[in-house]
Amino acid sequence: MPEPVAWHDDGTASGSPYSPRFGDRYRSELGGLTQARDVFLQGCGLPEAWASQPQWCILETGFGLGLNFLLTWQAWKADPLRPRLLHFVATEAFPASADDVLRAARAHPELQVFAEQLHRQLWGLLPGLHRLVFEDGRLLLTLCIGDTREMLRQQSFEADSVYLDGFSPQCNPDMWNLPLCKAVARCCRRGTRIATWTVARSVRDALTQCGFTVRKCPGSPPKRDRLEGQFDPAWEPKKARRAPAGALPARCVVIGAGLAGAAAAASLARRGWDVVVLDAAAAPGSGASGLPAGVLAPHVSPDDSALSRLSRSGVRATLQQADALLTAGHDWSPSGVLERCLDHPRRLPAAWQHLDADAARDWVRPANPEQLALCGLTASDEALWHAKGGWIQPASLVRAWLAAPGVQWRGLAIVHRLARREGVWHALDVSGRALACGELVILAAGHASRRLAESAEASASEPFAAGTATRIHSQLALQAVRGQVTWAPLEADQARQLPPFPVNGHGSFVAGLPLPGGPPGQLAWLTGSTFERGNESLEARPGENLHNLERLRTLLPDVARRLADDESPTAPNLVRGWAGVRCATPSRLPALGSLSPMNAPCAHALGSVWVFSGLGSRGLTFAALCAELLAARLHAEPLPISLRLADALLPAFAAEPAADAQQPASQAAQDSDL
Ligand SMILES: Cc1cc2nc3c(=O)[nH]c(=O)nc-3n(C[C@H](O)[C@H](O)[C@H](O)COP(=O)(O)OP(=O)(O)OC[C@H]3O[C@@H](n4cnc5c(N)ncnc54)[C@H](O)[C@@H]3O)c2cc1C
Repeated sequence: MPEPVAWHDDGTASGSPYSPRFGDRYRSELGGLTQARDVFLQGCGLPEAWASQPQWCILETGFGLGLNFLLTWQAWKADPLRPRLLHFVATEAFPASADDVLRAARAHPELQVFAEQLHRQLWGLLPGLHRLVFEDGRLLLTLCIGDTREMLRQQSFEADSVYLDGFSPQCNPDMWNLPLCKAVARCCRRGTRIATWTVARSVRDALTQCGFTVRKCPGSPPKRDRLEGQFDPAWEPKKARRAPAGALPARCVVIGAGLAGAAAAASLARRGWDVVVLDAAAAPGSGASGLPAGVLAPHVSPDDSALSRLSRSGVRATLQQADALLTAGHDWSPSGVLERCLDHPRRLPAAWQHLDADAARDWVRPANPEQLALCGLTASDEALWHAKGGWIQPASLVRAWLAAPGVQWRGLAIVHRLARREGVWHALDVSGRALACGELVILAAGHASRRLAESAEASASEPFAAGTATRIHSQLALQAVRGQVTWAPLEADQARQLPPFPVNGHGSFVAGLPLPGGPPGQLAWLTGSTFERGNESLEARPGENLHNLERLRTLLPDVARRLADDESPTAPNLVRGWAGVRCATPSRLPALGSLSPMNAPCAHALGSVWVFSGLGSRGLTFAALCAELLAARLHAEPLPISLRLADALLPAFAAEPAADAQQPASQAAQDSDL
């Protein structure tokens, strides 16, 4: 259950929201918009303070029913001098339901249009960080579900404005005490403005002790006073965030026009970078991202592992992008995904049972008998239902990202090596000709990123080579993993007999896809995939099609029988294979971070070469999220995931190439694309 809200009749369209837990009214509702605007926006000097800034970041403690966020959104939208990017980071220990948030906004018709968009994204709010995206990615709401102090510890950013909100200090003292004010102060730079509606002595004292200068100001009736202030400690504040390696937006060269490179290009262009994307192929999305269609679904584990948490954030990010950029039914389908649990029941994290069960169920629940029946399975077959899943044609997403303003794509551009000259990186072809140059380079070339990283290291360490041994003889721990899917055309009436959503759990099966490269209306089914580590061959092999069809007989016996009975769809002359090469890391997490080696003389130069690769079997899940993470780290913005999880993605280096290259066949057989 989400946090209960009681609605007291006060003659307004929505009623007055009241929290039974805290025995207090939702404060931001008191006195309506004027008061909220006077206390928080005006208290922080907005919108004037953000005028003509490239970015602005607001921290709010106590998201409540979202009124301050909606009000800020409205002010930002109406301001011709608004910052290009607005971050709004809000903490909330007890999130109200999406419906209550919408209801609270009903009293303010001018906010309705924003409230409806917010309402659509308020789902699956399990404890932790959730990134909600609005206004084509220019308004980013990071909802931190949990105790404010704990949540702020998981982040690293500097707020430009702070809205200190929450139930009254008498009803909820923990939201106003000294430790909380300290946690807020850690997110401030000198000059950060702070505003709140309470002028309680204890709050003023705590803020003052933490380095804020505060003063009482006249409030709007019926409130007599409000508080505003500024972070201006007598001591030198600790830097909360790391210094950005890329400094101000300039030119960026992205190598690789697959999901990773295209997503990074769009995220950086949105922040003002001038991006050139180079790819060896003639068309975008020709590498692993040329997969006819892939499955998007979160990973589930009893201990809610890093992979599981990252996958949920990733699925949310991809759904937002697909929804904004693609045509449902054509390039993608948010159909949900059924995951069969063939070997053993998939256990969900035990902690989820004590939480808001609706938030967990938004993500995953046991498949119901109707869903099982659509797959030809019975109620006794174990399966999970991932409501937030579906299939996507990766190349469509790649093309949409490359079409973003500020992104230029160039095909048939094979980068042989990187060279640094006069502080600028050059991408050179085999003859040494510069294909593009920039202050920042993103290596998104799948497993070829390893070789390019080595060339960058060699070039950056050249000036130091004569001195001490500074050259770092290390290799990115990235490995090629070949895979093949099997597909065939399908008539519309045949498609109606097959599951209307992807099924995975022992390989995967997707039906009702638009036929890759076929005429409009022509459909296809697809099943896969094979795994072969250390192999880079793109040749489609008949034997692997047979292997995929064999696995389908275990995953979906009824479907496999039906396809065989229908004569055509599995006839050897009609079944086709598509092969690609994934790029995997030993951790199965993507590799994202700069090449900068600690304490090396060439660290500065390599700090501007970033690796974004190793998306393994989940490129559709990771690309959009990690591109935003990359941009956030470069610009020292609030992160879309916890700092700890982000650090788990930092590229790993191995002394020897691909430490797990000689993996036994039995382990390879356990691989799965999801
Ligand atoms: C059979 C198979 C099934 C899969 N199923 C799924 C699935 O169901 N769901 C899912 O999420 N993921 C799936 N994946 C994984 C997914 O396809 C990848 O994770 C994703 O496409 C990786 O994107 P990328 O941009 O990192 O790499 P790529 O798409 O491979 O892009 C790398 C690009 O770099 C370019 N390049 C390389 N070297 C150079 C150079 N020197 N100069 C210039 N350009 C260069 C290449 O031409 C290529 O376009 C599957 C993969 C395979 C092979």
